[in-house]
Amino acid sequence: MLTKKQICDFEYLAVKIRADAVMMTNLQHSGHVGSSLSMADLLVVLFEKVLNVAPKNPKGPNRDRFILSKGHAAAGLYSIMAEKGFFPKDWLETYYCDNGKLCGHISHHVPGVEFSTGSLGHGLPVTVGMALDGKRKGKKHRVFCLMSDGDCNEGSTWEAIMLAAQHKLDNLVAIVDYNKVQALGFSKDVINLEPFAEKMNLFGWAVKEIDGHNFEQILDSLSIIPFVKGKPSFLIAHTVKGKGISCMENTVASHYKCVADDKLEDAYKELGV
Ligand SMILES: [Mg+2]
Repeated sequence: MLTKKQICDFEYLAVKIRADAVMMTNLQHSGHVGSSLSMADLLVVLFEKVLNVAPKNPKGPNRDRFILSKGHAAAGLYSIMAEKGFFPKDWLETYYCDNGKLCGHISHHVPGVEFSTGSLGHGLPVTVGMALDGKRKGKKHRVFCLMSDGDCNEGSTWEAIMLAAQHKLDNLVAIVDYNKVQALGFSKDVINLEPFAEKMNLFGWAVKEIDGHNFEQILDSLSIIPFVKGKPSFLIAHTVKGKGISCMENTVASHYKCVADDKLEDAYKELGV
């Protein structure tokens, strides 16, 4: 159970991530702001309460491994990593710039980033390899993969899903930022994932389904890992693409666009900055 103060602190951090993502994408008029906004609350709970990571020792052998498979949502992840002290906050303003410190998609050249992603369907297979390696060596760390619904259209993702169940990788947690919008349309119209939870159960994973903007539910769902001993864990987090900014919420445009210059002030107001 979270205290009121903890919830306030989480809300503050989530607003910070969203505001940074709006700023970073607007500076270079780059895209994918909607993808950062939808996962902000998940990132807050992961980095504040769940992941065993140390910003000053990002390669520590006992750290939990975290891979953002939806690498196009780099702005959101970079924001919380800067906040936690993995690298200086002024790097955020170099996002997407020529010779900047932070590439447009997630890069392992940034301290604390495990793997470069961007092409969908790569995160989970790599995560499965890491989890299998950890299991075979008797390691205690966990391996997390935050995916998009677009990731779940990829054949490589489904190969990884089968392999994880085959090897009973209960040190692996996959979280889907299920905002139901992807690059070219609404997920139900591109490749419908439903009945998603039922499919994942049949594929041998332990599944939970939550509101991905409810801090209590996110924390409760991740408080005991694995969800079921001997099975990989799958968290379907229902979210809203572009969450927090009305001109972006639940729109396909928010995948590719940033908040336009003339909408910036209203966007920050809506976030409460
Ligand atoms: Mg999506």
